[in-house]
Amino acid sequence: MFNKFSSIQNAQEFCQLLSTCDVCPGNSDFSDLVNMKKGPGGQIPVRITPNDKYIVFNSSGTIRHAKCTIIIPRDCKRCPPCTVHRSDLASHRSKMKVKMNTPHDLSSTTPNSYLSHSKLHIKMTKLQADRRRLKRRSGYLELKIEEIYRNEIAILSHQQLASLDKSLEDCAEQMNSVLPVGSNRNLIFNRESR
Ligand SMILES: [Zn+2]
Repeated sequence: MFNKFSSIQNAQEFCQLLSTCDVCPGNSDFSDLVNMKKGPGGQIPVRITPNDKYIVFNSSGTIRHAKCTIIIPRDCKRCPPCTVHRSDLASHRSKMKVKMNTPHDLSSTTPNSYLSHSKLHIKMTKLQADRRRLKRRSGYLELKIEEIYRNEIAILSHQQLASLDKSLEDCAEQMNSVLPVGSNRNLIFNRESR
């Protein structure tokens, strides 16, 4: 557009044209959609759909279509690509709202892509609480197992062991019928009697 104004002779014409032009404001009224697109740490998105760019200037942002003409005639509200893009953004906003309002079980297996920024926070808090609860539970179970060992362990003397081995040998046939070789019961018995 500006190529034909490259010479000084046309500077006046260029200035005249500029005085009749404005800058396309893009679409700055989709702040709710922008918020929904923020990352888990509140990161500002660089684009809202694959066809646009999110531009932040002086702490306010606007969504411009990738083919935004930037310069528009003064009597136009916004450039044609950005005008058409409004309907895409509106439909994208509706889809995002449905997605956010769809109840999802906030379990640790819920994919992050299904969750809004606030729900990601809830999921993170829930996971941290789960971790603390599991840590307490595993500590409690560890103590419980130690207690069972302490209460039930029997240290046999050499003589008692020899006598036990002999008893087991004497009733090997009965043992085999009760604890068949290869059965789970046999495996557990052998492990526990070591
Ligand atoms: Zn535009």
